[in-house]
Amino acid sequence: MKQATQALHSGYTKDSQKTMSVPIYMSTAFDFGSADFAASSFNLEQGTDNVYTRVGNPTNAILERRFAEVEGGSGALAVASGMGAIFYAILNIADAGDNIIVSNQLYGGTVTLFSQTLKRLGIESRFFDVHDSAKIEELVDEKTKCIFFESISNPSIDVPDFDTLIKIANKHQLLTIVDNTVATPILCQPLLLGADVVVHSASKYTTGQGTAIGGLIVERKELSVKIKDNPRYPHFNTPETSYHGLLFADSVVSPILFTFRARMILLRDTGAVLSPFNAWLFIQGLETLSLRIKEHAKNALAIAKWLEKQEIVKKVNYPLLESDKNYVNASKYLAKGASGLVSFEVENFEVAKSILDKVALFSIVANIGDSKSIINHSASTTHQQLSKEELEKAGVGEGLIRLSIGIEDIEDLIEDLEKALG
Ligand code: PLP
Repeated sequence: MKQATQALHSGYTKDSQKTMSVPIYMSTAFDFGSADFAASSFNLEQGTDNVYTRVGNPTNAILERRFAEVEGGSGALAVASGMGAIFYAILNIADAGDNIIVSNQLYGGTVTLFSQTLKRLGIESRFFDVHDSAKIEELVDEKTKCIFFESISNPSIDVPDFDTLIKIANKHQLLTIVDNTVATPILCQPLLLGADVVVHSASKYTTGQGTAIGGLIVERKELSVKIKDNPRYPHFNTPETSYHGLLFADSVVSPILFTFRARMILLRDTGAVLSPFNAWLFIQGLETLSLRIKEHAKNALAIAKWLEKQEIVKKVNYPLLESDKNYVNASKYLAKGASGLVSFEVENFEVAKSILDKVALFSIVANIGDSKSIINHSASTTHQQLSKEELEKAGVGEGLIRLSIGIEDIEDLIEDLEKALG
């Protein structure tokens, strides 16, 4: 099946009521039917869908199977937020004393997770610039667990050189983890480019209408081959004491090893589970994602080109503008479109503020990926917690305005911006 069809049909073969819409199983727990079945479920001999909703739920399972197929992966885990997905993806492989190699150009919440919270847990983050990726080789040592980057970074809108990063990671038998939130699997499939794990904030383009917070972790087909017997990943290759010495790499679920361990250890113990109702909202969103994201990308490119011609604008960032430093990578990895984020720089914070206060159709919102257009001043909102140095590294200047372009009529969007910039 092609992606647009998978997004509508995968993972659901109509229940006994033959409902066209995926049912919402709002149930905390499920009847095992027999003592033996209950015992074998807890011993991981059965599936994970019908035990207890903290570790699996039939509605969430449909979202997971469908999302995994649309991403081109083998398995997925849905969790309560995008940040939850990133945190679990890292904790699944790293302990105190380990380090991860991460891009400078990341969402602000991810930067604070890496530079503050993980640091307190004893996990060191080693930062690199996506425009200088060859340098990361110097950062790798025997305690390195992964290379983490965003396929289109928020808010700096950079596109990494996937091939170089994946090649270096593979040379050292390291996992690559890619946040594919902004690109979405419709515009970019990192797993098919050779990345190992993809994480998502489903709160953005997947829901499309800003209705719910949620996240997903998706793993590449045959990722277990890279993990099995790899000395970097003892969590999978040494006996798991909380499951009577189970070796995850040898378990029956080894084709979906990464997400299975995240579910059965991290979700079990720390519980950032996605509500089945929110899973259902993401299923609704996913069904139309392929149509919507192409409109976002078309409108964004048109607005970026228009902004380039405005005198008040010092610089426009959109990867598919020929003038953009990401143009070569974007043409290679984002041929179907570069999603809906556009940013531009004006003289200073005062000028930026006056533009934000003059728009009418755009809303001033700390979010991206809504069908409705959004305007935001990153340095004073989403990136407020970052130090001056971190802001600089993330490419967030005081006059930077970020737009998340929606799917309204392009003429109305330009008219609104024209009045505000005028
Ligand atoms: N990753 C990216 C690229 C984001 O933009 C965001 C939120 O804006 C997140 C992760 C975090 O997602 P959530 O808000 O669902 O926790």
